[in-house]
Amino acid sequence: MSADLLAALRAAVGPAQVLTHDAPGADLSAWEQDWRKRAHGRALAVVRPGSTAEVAAVVRACAATGTAIVPQGGNTGLVVGSVPDDTGTQVLLSLSRLNAVRALDAANLTLTVEAGCVLQNLQDIAEKAGFLFPLSLAAEGSCTIGGNLATNAGGTQVLRYGNARDLCLGLEVVTAQGEVWHGLTGLRKDNTGYDLRDLFIGSEGTLGIITAATLKLYPLPAAQLTAWAAVPTLDAAVALLGLAHQHLGAGLTGFEVMGQFALGLVARHMPQLRVPLWQDSPYCVLLENSDSESEEHARGQFERLLETAFEQGWVSDAVVAESLAQAHGLWHIRESIPLAQAEEGLNIKHDISIPVSSIPAFCAETDALLQREIPGVRLVNFGHLGDGNLHYNVQAPAGADAKKFLNGQETRVNTLVFDAVARYHGSISAEHGVGSLKADHLPHYKDPVALGLMRAIKQALDPQHLMNPGRVLSP
Ligand SMILES: Cc1cc2nc3c(=O)[nH]c(=O)nc-3n(C[C@H](O)[C@H](O)[C@H](O)COP(=O)(O)OP(=O)(O)OC[C@H]3O[C@@H](n4cnc5c(N)ncnc54)[C@H](O)[C@@H]3O)c2cc1C
Repeated sequence: MSADLLAALRAAVGPAQVLTHDAPGADLSAWEQDWRKRAHGRALAVVRPGSTAEVAAVVRACAATGTAIVPQGGNTGLVVGSVPDDTGTQVLLSLSRLNAVRALDAANLTLTVEAGCVLQNLQDIAEKAGFLFPLSLAAEGSCTIGGNLATNAGGTQVLRYGNARDLCLGLEVVTAQGEVWHGLTGLRKDNTGYDLRDLFIGSEGTLGIITAATLKLYPLPAAQLTAWAAVPTLDAAVALLGLAHQHLGAGLTGFEVMGQFALGLVARHMPQLRVPLWQDSPYCVLLENSDSESEEHARGQFERLLETAFEQGWVSDAVVAESLAQAHGLWHIRESIPLAQAEEGLNIKHDISIPVSSIPAFCAETDALLQREIPGVRLVNFGHLGDGNLHYNVQAPAGADAKKFLNGQETRVNTLVFDAVARYHGSISAEHGVGSLKADHLPHYKDPVALGLMRAIKQALDPQHLMNPGRVLSP
């Protein structure tokens, strides 16, 4: 059976684009291991189609033989969703060769691109044409727009521009049967029935393969200013966010919070980065003001905002970047937290969302709970406070064996954190998705009616359960 399938795959995409373990010197680990090194599977083959028609032919060949497909973009996902299991029976479908820009429509403010385009390249292409494509995340140099849409990625600009879902007007998708849905509309209004685009966005490859997308563009701001402020408490950070909304309006494009321990990890593992103001304050925040008028206008707004915040006691110290290079430096510190944390050792990651108003109470309660249950545990708390998303990560006590901690405590820590999230009416996955890591948790925390509808949709669109099986919905 697999010999016939491999022959069909080679016929579909060309022999050079079907990689198997039995080829001399073959090393497929780049596709088989996830970014966090939490899982290392074994694929029957890595298949790299170069066009939508080739993707469709691969899907049809797999459907005919009952072979499961795992789609992969940049393989930067954090929930083990883009690597094969260890059975050696699944086809790893890499979208990386589908990387053409199909059209830029300046008057319609849209960019139509293929799924394998790297996010940073799209930001650059938009900027060269005088536009902004605002999706922005620390993995942007490697992640692909197909992966961003499949996970409905968030990032640092969500409070102004929304998630990947909000930035997409149309999709081209290869269905589980190997048909092509041509949905690359650039329309902002189209009420002709169920929204299939929204069904595929965030489905993590479990309903079909995204092969291209039409994305929204925005005018480039005239100025972008960044400020870094030390805040005495999380309550003060939330109050500052409210004030920033009032003062900056739609100009407020970023509001990140970073706990002292998280910043301390950057200072320790990346001493070349000079982390400001972290030593004397439990939290720092990073604010971005994108102004359509001028830098002077943006600076004036920031000054008035910070003046009021100082008067209220919500900010104890602050710096405003003097140049774009300084602003990039501040963002680089924020974006280095996940890497610094990885340097410190394995940890238990949580990507949760809570209503912004409840975040201080949630953190106070859950910090205390974890400290009581696991004395000495270290909390790496940072995230997109502006949209209520925290990366509430839990690191082993200092000096403890990180691997042992992960193996021994992950289930318990997850239960403590997720139960607290549920008490605060939050979500156990804000932006990273469900993948394999959270599939077993979903039945405990998702509304049962919603879960039933999701299973019905899966059954209708992928009755053979061949599209990324075991992800999102556990068997
Ligand atoms: C340092 C770092 C920082 C990060 N920061 C953020 C952040 O701020 N916000 C955020 O949301 N995420 C973040 N992530 C997570 C990750 O970058 C995103 O989930 C990203 O959207 C994944 O894109 P990718 O191309 O790497 O997808 P992959 O990892 O390859 O795949 C992710 C999922 O999408 C599916 N998939 C991929 N391509 C397709 C396709 N064309 N059609 C159908 N299904 C597909 C895969 O099967 C898998 O289930 C971060 C990751 C890292 C390593």
